[in-house]
Amino acid sequence: MRTCVGCRHRDEQAALLRVVGEEPGPTGMPWEVVPDPRRRSQGRGAYVHPDPACVRLATERRAFGRALRRSGRPDIRALEAWLGQQET
Ligand SMILES: [Zn+2]
Repeated sequence: MRTCVGCRHRDEQAALLRVVGEEPGPTGMPWEVVPDPRRRSQGRGAYVHPDPACVRLATERRAFGRALRRSGRPDIRALEAWLGQQET
């Protein structure tokens, strides 16, 4: 069981998307939240429901930064793009 950093509800790991913090691309943002659906990236990860509402909550609460030990507002466009691709 893992806790979603957005809605804070606990859920099975398979129901949650792992994300990691990475150095950003040329965006000017301090860091970037990147989806890690296969849970293969090294280092600290956080879990969020693959749901735009949970991502929004996590962003508003700055929960990604707390969970991933990074400061400043992250670029979440890669995460949003990944979510968009899941909707079919
Ligand atoms: Zn959630």
